[in-house]
Amino acid sequence: MSEPLPILSVRWQLKFTKCSLKCPYCIAEWTKRPVEFRADLFTAIIGRLLAQPYRLVIRLGVEGEIFLSPEIQEGVVRLSRHPKVEGVSFSTNMMASDEKVSAFLDRADCSKLGMGCTLHDTQITSEQVEGFFRRIEMIQKRGVLLFVGYVAKPDCFEQMRRYKDRLDAMGVPFISNEYNGAFEHVPYPEAYTPQQRQELPKFLWADHYYRMLVERENPKGKPCQAGHRYIYLGSDGKILRCGMERNLPWTLAQKVAWRVNKDWPAKMQQDRIMKRSLGNILTDDLRLDAAPGPCPHTSCTCGNEAQAFDAVGKEYHRTRTLRVIYPKDRAAEYEARYPNLRPLPDEG
Ligand code: SF4
Ligand code: SF4
Repeated sequence: MSEPLPILSVRWQLKFTKCSLKCPYCIAEWTKRPVEFRADLFTAIIGRLLAQPYRLVIRLGVEGEIFLSPEIQEGVVRLSRHPKVEGVSFSTNMMASDEKVSAFLDRADCSKLGMGCTLHDTQITSEQVEGFFRRIEMIQKRGVLLFVGYVAKPDCFEQMRRYKDRLDAMGVPFISNEYNGAFEHVPYPEAYTPQQRQELPKFLWADHYYRMLVERENPKGKPCQAGHRYIYLGSDGKILRCGMERNLPWTLAQKVAWRVNKDWPAKMQQDRIMKRSLGNILTDDLRLDAAPGPCPHTSCTCGNEAQAFDAVGKEYHRTRTLRVIYPKDRAAEYEARYPNLRPLPDEG
């Protein structure tokens, strides 16, 4: 019997900046940006991904709401039904109607589907919150590996306790993201209190995420799968090793150039990013690094990327939903508590 193809994890940004909510803390800032999503490029990139000699675990970064885009939903359905795809996941605010969500699930292969359903409880009514939980239950019953996402605002610990208990009882993972930025003029995540830090690991789901996202552990020099078994794909097909490569810290030359001409550093930044890029999936052969390499960055602040860290594969099972990992030494306990959890086949 031939060896199974290796697994390539792909984080893919789509720039579909259109949403049904207007959260004031929206990092996609969709109300200020034009919709740059192009259905033709999206379809062409899917074709190119499926032609690669890998099994795929894909996470779409929609940058808006997927249930407003029939094209993206169709792309997910197509990916989920392809034999080379082990998993395809995305985030949603889960404000679409029960009927719309149900019709989408009818078309997709739910056993390969992952959904990060972010609960924006400060932006919706309590009736809408109950509608959110009703759809979560419906999706969970279909076998989708979903999780509920939440932002760990420093004044929301009581809510997080309630939501985690409620979701645990439903067998659904609850995964908070750390709060980033100023809250009452104090910078977070640095300002979390010792008591909050004690509770945060359980809200962030995995100790690894707590260390990387809250404690801001420095990954520099540690082996990482980025560029080897993990890539970050732009909406135009550009391939980077990971998302941290989009925002490289400025060099001394850039800082000096900025005093002379404001456009130069931006141009220098683009040149540096292009130099480190692994090409474009639409036009180039995929040539990945032969082995995990040392991380060149001093922080790794995205939950999707933090799972590319080489050590994660030793401690945790990776799954068909890129964001969801779980400890190998407590696998039976996790799988009993969250019934849709299972490890990727032949993860390696
Ligand atoms: S639901 Fe998400 S994309 Fe939409 S406004 Fe809120 S944070 Fe932004
Ligand atoms: S550890 Fe994080 S920042 Fe470093 S290369 Fe890997 S994914 Fe990128």
